[in-house]
Amino acid sequence: MKIITYLFLISFFTLVSCQGNAQKKPKSEQFEIQKTDAEWKNQLTAQQYYVLIKEGTEKPFSSELNKIKNPGTFICAACKHPLFKTKRKFESGTGWPSFDKPIDGGVFYSADNKLGYKRNEVLCAKCGGHLGHVFNDGPPETTGKRYCLNGVAMNFIPTKK
Ligand SMILES: [Zn+2]
Repeated sequence: MKIITYLFLISFFTLVSCQGNAQKKPKSEQFEIQKTDAEWKNQLTAQQYYVLIKEGTEKPFSSELNKIKNPGTFICAACKHPLFKTKRKFESGTGWPSFDKPIDGGVFYSADNKLGYKRNEVLCAKCGGHLGHVFNDGPPETTGKRYCLNGVAMNFIPTKK
């Protein structure tokens, strides 16, 4: 009986410690660019700070980037890291700039339970700025993914002709 109790305790503590390890690290340790809250506040506009740093969401249909159809690259508004290309953009009807695929190495994923169910948060892979979320209801003829992004978190660089 003693051995069984021992095994039970071992497995119990393994479980507990796994849960401890599964917790995500603070954002600042994961990303190449590290700035203090005050530095970001100083650098960004109030709306950029609210979305990128405070993980806010802009009003739908508010971003100029919704209209963009010409070739180019969408970059992080905080650190200029390239995130998405126009050719992967599609009209989702949601009022937020939507893409079916990021540039390789462009974004980082993190689980977000803020609304009571799990959503995959999309962050800039270089600075950790909050960009939006990714859902599985994108165009079935391509990737099936819908990257739902805040336009204020990005800038657009048109391809030079
Ligand atoms: Zn960034």
